[in-house]
Amino acid sequence: MILALSGTGVSDGVALGRLHKLSHRELDLPEYHVEDEEIERQVRRLEAASAACESALAAMEAGLPDEARGAAAEMLQVHRLMLRDDTLIGESVRRVRTDGINAEWALDRQAASMRSALERSEDAYLALRSEDLDQIVQLLQRELAQSGAAALAERIPAGLEGTVVLARSLSPAEVAILHQRRVAGVITEHGGTWSHSAILARAYGIPTVMAVKRALRVLREGEWVILDSHYGAVLATEDDGLHGHYGEKVRQLARRSARQARALAVPDRTLDGERFRLFGNAEHAPELTRCVEHGAVGIGLMRTEFLFTETLLPDEETQYQALRTAQAALDGRPLTVRTLDAGGDKLPEALARFDGPNPALGLRGIRLSLALPELFDVQLRAILRASAHGPVRILLPMLTRLDELERARERIAECAEALREEGVSVDPDVQIGGMIETPAAAWMAERFAARLDFLSIGTNDLVQYVLAVDRQDERVSHLFDPSCRAVIELIGRVVRGAAVHQRPVQVCGEMAGDPRMVPVLFGLGVREFSMPPGQLAAVKSRLIRLDAARARREVADDLAVSDSDSVAALCRQLDPGSD
Ligand code: PEP
Ligand code: MG
Repeated sequence: MILALSGTGVSDGVALGRLHKLSHRELDLPEYHVEDEEIERQVRRLEAASAACESALAAMEAGLPDEARGAAAEMLQVHRLMLRDDTLIGESVRRVRTDGINAEWALDRQAASMRSALERSEDAYLALRSEDLDQIVQLLQRELAQSGAAALAERIPAGLEGTVVLARSLSPAEVAILHQRRVAGVITEHGGTWSHSAILARAYGIPTVMAVKRALRVLREGEWVILDSHYGAVLATEDDGLHGHYGEKVRQLARRSARQARALAVPDRTLDGERFRLFGNAEHAPELTRCVEHGAVGIGLMRTEFLFTETLLPDEETQYQALRTAQAALDGRPLTVRTLDAGGDKLPEALARFDGPNPALGLRGIRLSLALPELFDVQLRAILRASAHGPVRILLPMLTRLDELERARERIAECAEALREEGVSVDPDVQIGGMIETPAAAWMAERFAARLDFLSIGTNDLVQYVLAVDRQDERVSHLFDPSCRAVIELIGRVVRGAAVHQRPVQVCGEMAGDPRMVPVLFGLGVREFSMPPGQLAAVKSRLIRLDAARARREVADDLAVSDSDSVAALCRQLDPGSD
C-alpha cells in the first residue's frame, strides 16, 4: 500500500528513510509574582539563560560545515544579535523589576510587545524579523525551563542519521542541527519556500518538503518514507520495488553532485577553450552567498517582487537596505536588479486594483511601473543609491515596445539627476538591460540592443508567449516545451541582434539552469547563463566538457535542415555524456 501526501518542495533532492517525528513540546510557561528579595534571582536567571543560549549558538556556528557556513552562520548571527540587543533581555529585566514577575513571564510579555510592534511595522524586513524573535524566545524559554544549554539538542536526539524527520515546524537553528545529525530529509507541516528554515534547508541541500498538511497525524513513527522534494511528494510505503528505485536514485544523485562539485574548481571554459560566465538568480542573502560559493561571477537576476509583500509597498529606504544586504553578500560582484515585475501571477494586494481579465497579458512588469511613476521612482532611487556602493545593473521586465524603454530610461535619468541634486552619490555608468521575454522584444532584439547595455532572455515567459501556453495552467503544462524549435530559433535571432551592437546577452529563465539545454544555447552563441544556485555546478560540469565548435556547427546544421517541432534530438546529440 502506498500513502501519498503532497506539500511544497523547498529544496531539490530525494530521500528514503525511516520516519522520525520530532515532538513539539509546547512550553508550559510558569507565570507568577515574586517577592522583592526574589527579584534579583529572576534577573540573574534571565541573564544566565541569555548567556547560555548565546554560547550554544556560537558553538553551533563554529561547528558549521564549510559548505554551508555563509547561509547558516548568517542566521545564527542574527539570533545572537537579538540576544545581545537590549530591547529583548534588557527590557525583560526591567519588567521583572518594575512588575515584580518571574523571568519567564517577563520575557513572554516583552516578546509579545516586540512582536506586535514588528507586526504593525510597515517595514517588510522588520516583519520578517518577528519569525526570528519567536525562535529566539522559544530557545530562551527552554533554557529557563531548565532544559539546560543543550535545549535544542535535546529536542533533536542523536542517532537520526539517515532518517526522514517530521516536525510541525522547525527553526533555522534546528535545521542546522538536523544537518549536523546527517538526516536524509525533512518534512514539516508548516512553512513555505521563503521561510528562513526553507532557505537554510536549501543552503544545506537537505531534501525538504514543507506544508504537508496533517502529516503528523497520518504518518507513523518508524515507517519507511520516500521524499521527492522536486515534486513536493511524500510517499509512505514498504514496497521493495519503490525502495530499490528511490535508493538507487539517492545514490546516483550523491555521486553526481560530488562529481559536479569538482567542476567548480575548474576555469569557466569549454573543452576547446571558449569562455563562458555563470551568474546566479537569487533574492535572499543565504541564496546570494550560495551563488558565490558555487562560482557565480555575479547575480544575473535579482527578482524584487519579494519586497512587495501582500499588503504593503516598501519605501525607498527598505528597498535600499535590501539591496545593500545583497551587495554585502556579493563582495563586489555585480548585482542585476530587475525592477518590479508585478502582475501576471504575482500582484501584491496593494496593487490588486490593477488586476485584469487576463493577467499574463495585462498591466504587468514595465507597463505597471510606467503606469505608476511614483512607485517606479521609489524603486529606481533605491537601486541608484545602491549603485554608489558596488556594481549594480538595472533590468527592465516585460518590454514589448521601444518607447517603453525610452520612457523607463527617462525616469532613470531623472531619478539619478534628482539624487545628485540632493547630494546623493550615484554610479554615473549604471548599466541598463532589458528582459527579452515577449515575442515582440525578441523579434526586435537588434533595435532593443542598440538602446540597451545588455539583454537578458527570460525563457520562462518567452516560452509562454511564443507557444501561447499559460505557464500557470497545469492542464497545458505538457505543451510548455522550452526545446520547441520556434523558441530556439527566436533565441538565435536575439543573440544575432545583440551581436550587431556587441551587447552581452544572458539567458536567465529556467532553461539556463537545465544542463540538457545549455549546450544548445551555447551553440546558438549564448555565453552568459543565470540560474538558481543549486544548478550552477551541474551546468558548469556540462559546459566544461562541451566541444564548443562542434556545438556551434551542429546547432547551425540542425536549424538549417530539421523539420521537427523540437530540438530534443539535438540536445541528446550534444550531450557530452553523463558527468
Ligand atoms: C523569465 O520569464 O524567464 C524570467 C526569468 O522571469 P520570471 O520567471 O520572473 O517571469
Ligand atoms: Mg519573466
